[in-house]
Amino acid sequence: MPELRYHRCGETRHDVGALLRGAPRERRVFPAGVFRYDDGERRVLVDTGYPPRPWGTGASGWAYRRLLPPRVRDGETVGEQLDPATVTHVVLTHLHPDHIGGVRFFPHAVFVLSAGLVETLRGPRLKEAVLRGLLPPWFENAQRIVVDRFEGEAHGLPSHDLFGDGALCIVDLPGHARGHVGVLVHDRVLLAGDAAWNRDLLGQEQRMRALPRSIGHDHAAQARTAQRLLAAEAAGVRLRFAHDPHPEGVDLLWAD
Ligand SMILES: [Zn+2]
Repeated sequence: MPELRYHRCGETRHDVGALLRGAPRERRVFPAGVFRYDDGERRVLVDTGYPPRPWGTGASGWAYRRLLPPRVRDGETVGEQLDPATVTHVVLTHLHPDHIGGVRFFPHAVFVLSAGLVETLRGPRLKEAVLRGLLPPWFENAQRIVVDRFEGEAHGLPSHDLFGDGALCIVDLPGHARGHVGVLVHDRVLLAGDAAWNRDLLGQEQRMRALPRSIGHDHAAQARTAQRLLAAEAAGVRLRFAHDPHPEGVDLLWAD
């Protein structure tokens, strides 16, 4: 029986008022979520959360941690919450540190990357905040599925059926980072990565302040993606963002 679970793998805090004009000054906790899909045959992770310490990423890692200080409790990295050997696939929505920090735990998994992510890895721009030091040396030669086209459409979003059976579709969600994608699970739940910081902040892109706007890859595309996600939600799809609150830490999100 297929099921989808959530694991909180560290968190950061940030002032919502510093992100959006007109929002109250509210220091909000943004957990780093890892989603785990199991169907008895495949165990697929979507993102990998924060890394364990030390980061070993020099000055750029230091600057990133100043802006978004991470907090990772004992036992909270993804590699400590499940048996890494049982994971068959890892989908990365994008390459920010709070999404790739646990890549190191999965040398035997097949990594699913969009063509945009592969390009980013080849030639990261400074503002893309790709901390290569967080990726293990074997990552370059890890088994990969590169999604270089979206031949289908799901709820108005360009999509690619990952296994050809409709279980998991990679959907194109451009804007937040180059090559940013999400995963539509059984046409029911859409794991939307960082298309918005939280569900309640989706659709407010026009209020985004200059700094977060400048760090994002393509602000206009992000606003278009948000409208498509809102339409998908109105059509009955459940949206889950990587940094939505999950006080329980581990949750069953969906089961067939
Ligand atoms: Zn991000």
